[in-house]
Amino acid sequence: MKKRPSFPAQLDVGKTQPAPKTLLGATRIVTTPKTSAQAHAPVMQSPSGVGLDSSTVRARMVQKLADQGIDDDGVLQAMGRVERHRFVDSALVNQAYEDTSLPIGLGQTISKPNVVARMIALLRQAPGLQGQLGRVLEIGTGCGYQAAVLAQVAKEVYSIERLRGLHDKARENLRPLRLPNVHVIFGDGMLGYPQGAPYSAIISAAGGEAMPQAWIDQLAIGGRIVAPLQTANGQQALIVVDKTAQGLQQHLLEAVNFVPLKSGIA
Ligand code: SAH
Repeated sequence: MKKRPSFPAQLDVGKTQPAPKTLLGATRIVTTPKTSAQAHAPVMQSPSGVGLDSSTVRARMVQKLADQGIDDDGVLQAMGRVERHRFVDSALVNQAYEDTSLPIGLGQTISKPNVVARMIALLRQAPGLQGQLGRVLEIGTGCGYQAAVLAQVAKEVYSIERLRGLHDKARENLRPLRLPNVHVIFGDGMLGYPQGAPYSAIISAAGGEAMPQAWIDQLAIGGRIVAPLQTANGQQALIVVDKTAQGLQQHLLEAVNFVPLKSGIA
């Protein structure tokens, strides 16, 4: 079995960054504001005395997400719980908690933490859902990271991937987490996954030229889709689609940069 990357004890967490305003989750960052000049220097403490562990850096990532405007505590807590470094190659472990997308093999990327948090927060804001995510369909399992985050806030997660290599990798990454509510499927997500429908939410990690009709069909009334979509200028933007008893409501949001949505399996 492939050895999973462990978190390096000597990780540099950037001592010059400002101290967190609030502390979330099981953080081990403590501040000791002695003088005004020292007030912004976080002091890192490790209970074991062997250096920093990943919860410290993750807490810092979560704080940054909050500073960037992610104000959904449920999402922030979920982002604080899932160990992103377990989903990337060992050579990239040091970058696992930076706000950057990272290669996961086969030309695909794991989305930036900010984008993952933003999209899940948008799902939870759907007016028809009252903050409750029931069954969620994720298009593009990739390495499985976002599925693991979704599992913290949704009742059931169905995550579909068209590339066998990544599907297998996600399975392997997710296995030790023992998330009974995550179901990974190998298949073409452009067809949705009718076996789990109707979904309260559908989230895509790949952007196409148009939204597949199957997603609309498999969405419950009151449900919401959040996905990247190609816009007229050839760029991508996030689109939010709400399915109401009266029809579909669509909103185009900020520009994003996702890998392409492709049909078929490989
Ligand atoms: N959520 C993932 C991000 C993976 S990148 C993570 O956390 O790692 C997007 C993924 O979408 C890629 O793995 C790509 O292969 C996949 N993809 C693209 N088109 C697809 C389709 N039609 N069905 C399923 N997966 C698709």
